[in-house]
Amino acid sequence: MKIVLDRPRCEGHGLCEEAAPQLMHLDDEGELVLDSEQVGEADAAAAHAAVRVCPVAALRIV
Ligand code: SF4
Repeated sequence: MKIVLDRPRCEGHGLCEEAAPQLMHLDDEGELVLDSEQVGEADAAAAHAAVRVCPVAALRIV
């Protein structure tokens, strides 16, 4: 499982970071950084939560 960011869509709300802080964070400029595109089973629920919570649908799981 992989998490993919559509960067032009991302508005830096950071809600995804709250849902999955182990997978992503906002950098000092407010740009979202995926710490790892590969998502293990242990983080699958958090990854799905991050996708659901994004208000502009900038994240998806493939
Ligand atoms: S919640 Fe969506 S818009 Fe906000 S930082 Fe995450 S991916 Fe970007």
